[in-house]
Amino acid sequence: GVKIENVCLHFGDTEVLKGVNLNIEPGEFFAFLGPSGSGKSTLLRAIAGFGPAPSGRILIGDQDITHLPPWQRNVGMVFQSYALWPHMTVRKNVAFGLEERKVPPQEIDRRVSEALDLVGLLPLAGRRPSELSGGQQQRIALARTVVVEPRVLLLDEPLSNLDANLRVQMRRDILKLQRKLGLTTIFVTHDQEEANTTSDRMAVLSDGVIQQVGRPLELYDRPDNRFVADFLGSAN
Ligand code: ATP
Ligand code: MG
Repeated sequence: GVKIENVCLHFGDTEVLKGVNLNIEPGEFFAFLGPSGSGKSTLLRAIAGFGPAPSGRILIGDQDITHLPPWQRNVGMVFQSYALWPHMTVRKNVAFGLEERKVPPQEIDRRVSEALDLVGLLPLAGRRPSELSGGQQQRIALARTVVVEPRVLLLDEPLSNLDANLRVQMRRDILKLQRKLGLTTIFVTHDQEEANTTSDRMAVLSDGVIQQVGRPLELYDRPDNRFVADFLGSAN
């Protein structure tokens, strides 16, 4: 799992994370939900090791990763814009991370095929990204991230470029994949329904502060404060 202990982060004079504490269980699908500018991406990036190091501590299992460089953390991150390499085939795109890690070629072939099969796109292995739909590209980005077997999967609004139907289908697929691999996953979204339908638990953020943590229905039924109630549209 992932443990976040009193994490604070500022850009210049602006406090963007203000003492975040969280305990994400191994294998859990956990969502960060909150309005634009609340600090969701900043918190995710702090876990991935991008951007300035926060104060406080971030642990994966019992390893303190707060000050490790990103490539030593063994976390995988998928962004809103998936940025596949246009000049490489799908297979090459997915293989790249394994080649960098000097995995033997035969093992690369096997693992890439497995990952492409997991996202249902093995038949498209020879294509280039420009010959794929947005949803297919996002699946490739997912395959590329899970093929290196990260300890934690971080997803920053990976579906926000897709149309409504595809979003629904993709979030089911992501959830299936996550369950199959048993991957501890943190999913950032500002879409409440998306958080509700995917996550085991979620944290509602506002202004760099976690307002509440719990199962989606718990939060909806028993919001701790006005902000959570208004944000989730609870009846009270
Ligand atoms: P969105 O839903 O729009 O993606 P978010 O919750 O992901 O929003 P963040 O990107 O984490 O929000 O930004 C939180 C705050 O930190 C914002 O006020 C933003 O302007 C500020 N911020 C983020 N990155 C930087 C940076 N590199 N330099 C200065 N300020 C930053
Ligand atoms: Mg963001």
